[in-house]
Formats: sequence, C-alpha cells, structure tokens
Amino acid sequence: AKAAGKNQYLRFQPEMMTALVRRTDMEAGLRLAVDNDEITVNYQPIVSPVRGEVAQFEALARWDRNGERVPPSQFIPTAERSGLISAIGMHMLQESFTQLRAWLAGSPERSLAVNVSGVQLRERDFADDVLRLAESCGMNPAQLVLEVTESVFFDHDDHVIEQLGRLRHAGVSVALDDFGTGYSSLGRLQDLPVDAVKIDRSFVSMIRTGAEKLPILSSMINMAHSLGLTVTAEGVETAAQAAYLTDLQCDLLQGYLFSFPEPDTGLEIALLRSADA
Ligand code: C2E
Ligand code: CA
Ligand code: CA
Ligand code: CA
Repeated sequence: AKAAGKNQYLRFQPEMMTALVRRTDMEAGLRLAVDNDEITVNYQPIVSPVRGEVAQFEALARWDRNGERVPPSQFIPTAERSGLISAIGMHMLQESFTQLRAWLAGSPERSLAVNVSGVQLRERDFADDVLRLAESCGMNPAQLVLEVTESVFFDHDDHVIEQLGRLRHAGVSVALDDFGTGYSSLGRLQDLPVDAVKIDRSFVSMIRTGAEKLPILSSMINMAHSLGLTVTAEGVETAAQAAYLTDLQCDLLQGYLFSFPEPDTGLEIALLRSADA
C-alpha cells in the first residue's frame, strides 16, 4: 500500500496539473471567443495553373485571444473535444458565404472551400443545417467544397456517409484533405464518397529543384484522375514545385507561393492583383 501511495504521488506531476489547467482555460476562453466573435476567417487562394486564375478560396479559422493569435492546431482540437466546433463551423460557413458572395457571383466556376470536422458530420442535422444556411445566404451549393480528412470514414459511420450523400446530392463537393497521410489512402480511395483530393504538403515539399522524379506524386495524381477526382496540391512554396505539379496535370495549386491566408481586406488586394495579371 505504501508503494502504491508513493507511486500515485509520483505519477501526479505538477506539469500534468498545468496541462489540465491550460486545457480548461483554453476551453473557457474559446467559449467566450465564440460568443464575442473573436473567431474570424482568413482566405487562401487556390489557383488553376491552366486557367491562370483563382478558382477557389479556402476559409481558415483564426482566433485572436486578447490580441494574441492562437494557432488552429491548438484550438481546433479543444473545439472538437468540447463540441464548440459546431458553433465555430457554422460561423465559418456564414462568414465566408457572406464575405465571398460578390466574388462567387462573378462566375459559377468559382468555389469556396471550408474545413469540416468529423464531430460536425456526426450531428443529426448537419447536412440540412448547411443547406439551409446556404439558401439563406444566397449561396449556390454547387459552389461549396467541404474538406474532410480520412478519419471521418474510419468507423464506417452510416450517418456520416448519409450526411455527405445528402450534401453531394444537393451539388456540394467533398474534398479529401491531407491526402496521402492516412493509413489506406490509395487503395481505399475508390470507396470514399469524395469528389476531390488535396495532396498533403509533406509530398509537395519533396519536390526540390533538380531532384529526381517522384513516382509517388504522379501515382497519386493519376489514380485520383482515373477515379474522376479533382486534384489540389497544398503547401506549394516554390515556382519549381508549381511547375512540376502543373506538368503532372495537377488541377489546382495552393500555397505561400501564391498567397498566405489573408483576412478579407487582404483578399481584395489579392483579387485586384489577379485581375491585373
Ligand atoms: P489544413 O486544412 O490542411 O489547412 C492548410 C494549412 O496549411 C493552413 O494552416 C495554412 O495556413 C497552411 N499553409 C497553406 N499554404 C502553406 C504553405 O505553402 N506552406 C506551409 N508551410 N503551410 C501552408 P492553418 O491555417 O494554421 O490551419 C491548420 C489546420 O487547422 C488546417 O489544416 C485545418 O485542419 C484546421 N482548421 C483551420 N480552420 C478550420 C476550420 O474552420 N474548421 C476545422 N474543422 N478545421 C480548421
Ligand atoms: Ca483544409
Ligand atoms: Ca490539408
Ligand atoms: Ca494539414
């Protein structure tokens, strides 16, 4: 008993307490952030190398907590664990629908991509809520892309498949985010109810000037194309990467080479610039 007691004491390290406090503190702050509209949207352009223009914008969540930016890699997991991701997700959709309305109205070829968590897809009325919101904002569902990661398909949840089916039936596209990083990507791709893949940055960063051929990249792109899927490459940072991917017929490119994610004010400048080109 003495040994166990000592063990217990040893196991409860001060840094565990700190981590716990930080976690509940983050959750409390995030709850207030949602109520106080501290969550804003940044937009990153996704370009078509063939058409030479911006084809899509991806909406990315930003949280400025008392003037200090908290990265999504920190607050999104907290938001998912606490269920706050549902409110954040609807806020992201509403804000981006509204802010991109004029740009989207310019051409039916343009679309808006928004990240969706598995937690949202497991909600009872997610598809209906999204479609109702789109309608109330005057947004054509055919101009909406929902980005999901492979993990939403892990537990073969019929409800998730049904929600995605309803959305796709209404014209919404589903893109598989971080493609290539999952467990079963290539082989299982044909069974997934998706319209597009986004090749993860880790593959794009393998492209270096003068480097040897990268068969993995061409396999990923060719496989996706043979299934009729649109292919976007993420994290394109150099002109050499853009050229290499364009050569492999990659449909869309996204990354710091073209633009960082920007708030709507920066967006206007980016669009003016792209109109000049
Ligand atoms: P993601 O969906 O894979 O988004 C791409 C991330 O890569 C973004 O990070 C973006 O800023 C970054 N990025 C874009 N181009 C480049 C590049 O050329 N080089 C490098 N190094 N990075 C680039 P961010 O904005 O920090 O978002 C991180 C992750 O947080 C996202 O990864 C996404 O999984 C999640 N996230 C962001 N907003 C939302 C949201 O509204 N809802 C949900 N569920 N998740 C979100
Ligand atoms: Ca994404
Ligand atoms: Ca991604
Ligand atoms: Ca990622």
